[in-house]
Amino acid sequence: MRVAVVGGGAVGVTAAHDLARGGADVRLYERDEELGDDRTRPRDRIEGSSHRAAGVLAPRPTDAVGAEIASRAMDRFEWLSERDHRFSVEATPQVTLVDADAERKQAALREQIDAAREQGVDVACHEPAAIADRFPELDLSGVGLAAVTERAAYATPGPGAYVAAMADRARDVGVDCWTGVEAGVSHRGDGPRVDGERFDAVVVAGGGWTKRVLAPTGIQLPLKPYRVQALVSEGEYDGPMVLDTDAGVYFRPHPEGLLAGDGTVPEECDPDGWEPRGDDWFVDGAVDAVASRTGHDAGADAAWAGIATATPDHEPLLGEVESDLYVATGWQGHGFLRAPATGEALAKQVLGEREPIEKYAPSRFEGVPEFAVEEGMSL
Ligand SMILES: Cc1cc2nc3c(=O)[nH]c(=O)nc-3n(C[C@H](O)[C@H](O)[C@H](O)COP(=O)(O)OP(=O)(O)OC[C@H]3O[C@@H](n4cnc5c(N)ncnc54)[C@H](O)[C@@H]3O)c2cc1C
Repeated sequence: MRVAVVGGGAVGVTAAHDLARGGADVRLYERDEELGDDRTRPRDRIEGSSHRAAGVLAPRPTDAVGAEIASRAMDRFEWLSERDHRFSVEATPQVTLVDADAERKQAALREQIDAAREQGVDVACHEPAAIADRFPELDLSGVGLAAVTERAAYATPGPGAYVAAMADRARDVGVDCWTGVEAGVSHRGDGPRVDGERFDAVVVAGGGWTKRVLAPTGIQLPLKPYRVQALVSEGEYDGPMVLDTDAGVYFRPHPEGLLAGDGTVPEECDPDGWEPRGDDWFVDGAVDAVASRTGHDAGADAAWAGIATATPDHEPLLGEVESDLYVATGWQGHGFLRAPATGEALAKQVLGEREPIEKYAPSRFEGVPEFAVEEGMSL
């Protein structure tokens, strides 16, 4: 079986690797010159979201499909971390904070945590006083409710290292990697093609560019790319990962100090015309929010933006869109933490080793519904 994978981000390299390991003859197309970030290339020269992600791995799935994906992804991250010296996951609990006067959000958080616990996720809600001793790095004043996710981690030195490590493994199992190639996908009824060449199956894992990659086929997806942002700030921070829902900011330890993010711009952006630098409003808000929770009052040493992808129901588009033509996108800002499992699930589907995941079927909508871009971490 000859398979082409278009897009060499975290999802594409995982799918390519698993397809080849499952016996397929795989060619991976990536328009960037390299697969993965070896830390010698500045982030602002790499557009792919996997290189620009914050690397927070704190899944809190609320349904069985999400729980299977989240748990499998963490297993694979941990497996790779134990075997590849370039990439590791640092186990660190994540604390979600909701303000005392945000009653609706508190109720939503309790509901989410109950649903996650039903799926076996090790997470619980606490009064702030009950976690103060455990997390002395945090100033919890004004907080009404906290939730602690125990099985959480962050990727270090960064998500690009996962891509590089998986790309090497993909090459080892025979994936032919064509980098520096902007691939064109078509489908003339007799099957999918890349740059005119017929394959038995084509997987488009083009992140925020997926709609554009599919444009020549006439296939339309309910998918909107939008900007999200992150920054790194110097200074020691050795506490838990935090999601401060009222400030609209998350942060975590980072080898150079602290990484903070979110900065969602809730509108569709042009994947070929977005601003790659962080906005001043994001930097100011994130620096203030981090300072008030941790006393870490360093400024931003680097701030950047990248693309996330929204769908009408916040669930991915993972599966077949036309005979033998597959997509994997629409992660609502949580694509990296699921990539090892979503890439695997799609590879198995293409190989005929598992049924499609109905909940994520790209065909689940009536046509292409109108929808608003919403922040992926909102309660
Ligand atoms: C600032 C920021 C912070 C984030 N933080 C997190 C986080 O903490 N945790 C988390 O889970 N997620 C996070 N995300 C989201 C995460 O980055 C994405 O969901 C995930 O990386 C998507 O992976 P992907 O492989 O689908 O897409 P990408 O990594 O974008 O890969 C798509 C690839 O396709 C290539 N491509 C496009 N068109 C073509 C073509 N025609 N031919 C060949 N190649 C093509 C692109 O160059 C790109 O490399 C964050 C995103 C950003 C921007």
